Amino acid sequence: MSDIARFINIGERTNVAGSIKFKNLIVDENYDAALEVARQQVENGAQIIDINMDDAMLDAETAMVKFVNLLAAEPDIARVPIMIDSSKWNVIEAGLKCLQGKGIVNSISLKEGEEPFIKQARLLRRYGAAVVVMAFDEKGQADTVDRKIDICERSYRVLVDKVGFPPEDIIFDPNIFAVATGIEEHDNYAVDFIEACKLIKARLPYAKISGGVSNVSFSFRGNNPVREAMHSVFLYYATQAGMDMGIVNAGQLVVYEQIPPELRERVEDVILNRRSDATDRLLEVAEKYRGTGGPEKKADLEWRKKPVNERLAHALVNGIAEFVEEDTEEARLQADKPLHVIEGPLMDGMNVVGDLFGEGKMFLPQVVKSARVMKKAVAYLIPYIEEEKNGVRETNGKILLATVKGDVHDIGKNIVGVVLQCNNFEVLDLGVMVPTQKIIETAKAEKVDMIGLSGLITPSLEEMTYVAAEMEREGLDIPLLIGGATTSKVHTAVKIAPNYNKSVVYVIDASRAVGVASKLVSETHRHQFVTDLRAEYIAMAEKHAAQQLQKKRFAIGDARANKVQLDWDAYDIPAPKKPGITRFETFDLADLVERFDWKPFFETWELHGRFPDILSDEKVGETARGLFEDAKAMLKRIVDEKWFKPRAVVGIWPANSVGDDIEVTPAPDQNEPVMVHTLRQQMFRENNKRPNRALADYIAPKESGKTDYIGAFVVTAGPQVEEIAKKFEADHDDYNAILVKALGDRFAEAFAERMHEKVRKELWGYAADESLPNAELIAEGYRGIRPAPGYPACPEHTEKRTLWQLLDADNNVGVKLTESCAMTPASSVSGFYFAHPEAKYFGLGKIERDQVESYAERKGMTMAEAERWLAPNLNYDPRRA
Ligand code: SAH
Repeated sequence: MSDIARFINIGERTNVAGSIKFKNLIVDENYDAALEVARQQVENGAQIIDINMDDAMLDAETAMVKFVNLLAAEPDIARVPIMIDSSKWNVIEAGLKCLQGKGIVNSISLKEGEEPFIKQARLLRRYGAAVVVMAFDEKGQADTVDRKIDICERSYRVLVDKVGFPPEDIIFDPNIFAVATGIEEHDNYAVDFIEACKLIKARLPYAKISGGVSNVSFSFRGNNPVREAMHSVFLYYATQAGMDMGIVNAGQLVVYEQIPPELRERVEDVILNRRSDATDRLLEVAEKYRGTGGPEKKADLEWRKKPVNERLAHALVNGIAEFVEEDTEEARLQADKPLHVIEGPLMDGMNVVGDLFGEGKMFLPQVVKSARVMKKAVAYLIPYIEEEKNGVRETNGKILLATVKGDVHDIGKNIVGVVLQCNNFEVLDLGVMVPTQKIIETAKAEKVDMIGLSGLITPSLEEMTYVAAEMEREGLDIPLLIGGATTSKVHTAVKIAPNYNKSVVYVIDASRAVGVASKLVSETHRHQFVTDLRAEYIAMAEKHAAQQLQKKRFAIGDARANKVQLDWDAYDIPAPKKPGITRFETFDLADLVERFDWKPFFETWELHGRFPDILSDEKVGETARGLFEDAKAMLKRIVDEKWFKPRAVVGIWPANSVGDDIEVTPAPDQNEPVMVHTLRQQMFRENNKRPNRALADYIAPKESGKTDYIGAFVVTAGPQVEEIAKKFEADHDDYNAILVKALGDRFAEAFAERMHEKVRKELWGYAADESLPNAELIAEGYRGIRPAPGYPACPEHTEKRTLWQLLDADNNVGVKLTESCAMTPASSVSGFYFAHPEAKYFGLGKIERDQVESYAERKGMTMAEAERWLAPNLNYDPRRA
């Protein structure tokens, strides 16, 4: 068998970080379809499947357990080994516990020294799992062949000699890096990898070798034929050198022998670093093999020579706002009426945009840029149209959009508005925090064709249910569209649709909004669409109800008896270096930019995938790069011109747990303690194998006789974010309005990261020597957690009021809470700090009435209030009580 033929292919589509489709399925708890993804991988030849559930909005541990258990019941999937992939140790362990047969863990390394490495390896031994070991040590990732073999050898010796790890269960990943980047030091990277393979095979008996192949061709992103040739050549040599397995898109691998000889020779020169001008020579021929669809040339102004209508279409499709006023003026002079310019060339151009978007050939950032061109043109024409007083424009329909009462986030809703306008819908945007009555009155007065509601936080789910019920009561007969971060199809089907007897439609993202709205206004399609949907939602609600009934729960007493057991006698409680409150009146913006997590930024624009890989993604890479360029240009201005004034307040106080609550002593001279109330998981635990967690478990109980501590924080990017966004909106520039808000959110998240770091290293100071790269911070690879009220471990939002009281956050950072406990300004983040090394995030899951009663009593709430705030977590229907 040739070396390439025995190469083992690792399938990676079951990775939430790499596949948006898979992520959506998991978030929607559509595990049947998620299993299909795994099945397809195996059918298409994957010999191992890599499973990763690491995502901020997912309870990775629960998702991993559930998915792995389901896989086990599918013989045609379970016949291949499973690779449990996570940056979080608890997720890895949870996954391993459910695996049948031998598993593989991805990955461990010497990054934080030998001690944690040995500890993890020992645990892996207990599960009998094989392990991927990254060539990574305390100094960083290995790049040269010497570093690679040194680290692999050291890892091997530790594993085999100290841990007794079977060498055949060790899989090294010696790091594949990009070549032909134009930087000389990178030229030998592929050779370094190949040579390292040979040395590993020679010196470290039985060890295996793996790697992520597509990295090698990163600098030729956008040119797939060349990339595929590079992968093929690389694998040809690397497998001969001993590489056993790796992640590579098998369907796209060209056969080595079939690469055109000229291309193959130049690719080999690059991969094998055979001549100093290899990169230039490959670049010379690369264009020839590119095939179709190269990037648009930026400064090419050829199109300016075309007739005006074509110029307008070009500007719209390419989102170029520079010449739009002069072109619009020219078109106006040629047209009979100014309105005809909109109905003619502008709508024609927008139709092209709409079609390309619908076909998945154009992506959100480009569409929003196109809309900016359109808006500027329309704004230019409006005075002329009004002068003629005949400005009634034919549109596809009129839609009212609103973020519901108590909620302030509107990026997603604004994007939907833009996309609908691009498709010739008239959008009436009522903004944020819109009371139900105003929504209904406006809908009636303006005779809109449908209403679209948006919400980011869970209390908005209840609010939407209320809007639906009010629409029913007021006898409205128009469709209701539901969207936003916490909404879901199941929730829409189970909770909202039953309240409104007309059509209710869940819209998963902006790219679906047009399709849904178009069907709803279409005489031919509406009826069928609405009928099918109604049937689907009813079936979904019934299935959901049936599933809920089957789930066994613990009584709250039994759950409490199975709390997290920590050895408080043995635990040395770190006392804070600076107890009490610390305020930051402003903060260096450039410092925060270094802490950015870019992945959620691209997700805002519906570009899903890992960062920075997304920049070279085959489908969306070009769009992502354009967006990234724009973001960086704006960032430079934000920093240089000090657009934002971020503020923060953090506090650390003595605290002890008392049952499921935490008693906090805010100031020595204040005898009244403040109570933080936490909630406990009630899911059934077979033989109490895993605990029923509550956050209170991570604070020393009063009866331990020891004083423990808890911290809290509120950070904001500042009210300037929204003020600047408004200015862009006034200039018909939704693109930059959305961009500045999306960046404002990044600053707030980065600020939370930075503050947490400061607390660990200085203010609390229990990890004074910590030194983690940004990627590790994002992956939460540090000691302690910062759970945020409203998130899975503590989903009840009113705990933010307690947090506000402790920190006097209204005054100290100027962030306020709405009646639903949303934070305004929207670009703000808050949470508690827990320092215990065992503290971790978890999902509360569904809870029973017995706990709600106890919680209501402790909080001094009525049962109805508690049930309203806890609605998404109730395992019973309060209305049927
Ligand atoms: N780096 C991302 C992080 C945001 S989400 C960004 O820039 O957008 C991660 C945060 O969500 C955590 O720091 C924590 O505050 C919160 N969080 C995540 N899972 C949680 C859980 N299960 N319970 C409580 N809070 C959680």
